Amino acid sequence: MVKCDICGLREAVVYQRHTGRRLCKECFFKDVLERVLNEVKRYEMFKDNDKIMLAVSGGKDSYVLMNIMTQIHDPSKLGAVTIVEGIKGYNRVEDLDQLRAYAKDHGIDIVVVSVKELSGYTVDEMVENSIGKGLKISPCTFCGIYRRRGINLVARSLGYNKVATAHNLDDEVQTLVINMLRGDEARLIMLHPKRRRFSELFVPKIKPLRKIYEYETARYAYLKGYKPQIYECPYLNMMPSLRSKIRDILYRLEEERPGSLLKLLEEYDKLFEKEVEKREVKLNTCIICGEPTSPGRRVCKACELLIKTGLLDTSLK
Ligand SMILES: [Zn+2]
Ligand SMILES: [Zn+2]
Repeated sequence: MVKCDICGLREAVVYQRHTGRRLCKECFFKDVLERVLNEVKRYEMFKDNDKIMLAVSGGKDSYVLMNIMTQIHDPSKLGAVTIVEGIKGYNRVEDLDQLRAYAKDHGIDIVVVSVKELSGYTVDEMVENSIGKGLKISPCTFCGIYRRRGINLVARSLGYNKVATAHNLDDEVQTLVINMLRGDEARLIMLHPKRRRFSELFVPKIKPLRKIYEYETARYAYLKGYKPQIYECPYLNMMPSLRSKIRDILYRLEEERPGSLLKLLEEYDKLFEKEVEKREVKLNTCIICGEPTSPGRRVCKACELLIKTGLLDTSLK
């Protein structure tokens, strides 16, 4: 039996590639929790009396988010929201039931909202119309925009003052590299945990898991008894996004040089910290729906997509 490099007592069950250590279950849980707490404190992500809405899906990262947040914040000040996309074969009743059970186990109430309720259409209907018009829009675009929109609307209307998402280290570095490659300065600023609030209509977002590797959230969830969803999203391999290409490249980099992703995010955090404090990104409100738009836009991306696909419903208020 290989013993844990921290306690030297119990059997090691996790090889932590970026530190070269082998850890037992208990020491691994403790290590992840401490790193999340460090990050939360470093960026003063929330205060004791903050009401925090957890944005969850049925995935492993959401499970880890619920598990950790209930250990570091008063569970009575936590809520959860999930968005049902409306994707046939993917949004299954069993998965939603399992998510409800996980939330209940953690003592959290969960609100369920569908993309159909938010926009008048399911993601399937949007994709179908988009293909019908010969547009090359990745299904992930529809999904991502409406998920963000729905989470913000629910948190805002229920009086939550923070939204916590389950983005892990891999997600954050992918976004960082994408924004760098696009030269998108506004988004580079918006990614930083110290950025200023850019719209009164946006509930400020925090990402407690941003320094935890994806393989660690997967291990953590598995060791806590989480059961992964069996069905993959049917759109997963349709029109590979820039993100999926970047993901592959970063994965190979991390294999060759363990710790690279952490280093990239740490350096970005440090380099942008001063810049972010000076800069303000102001968002306009959409002239159609009244919700905040992306930097430099008058019509928000959600409305624009519906116009392009010929689905704009003016009741989207
Ligand atoms: Zn140990
Ligand atoms: Zn709009």
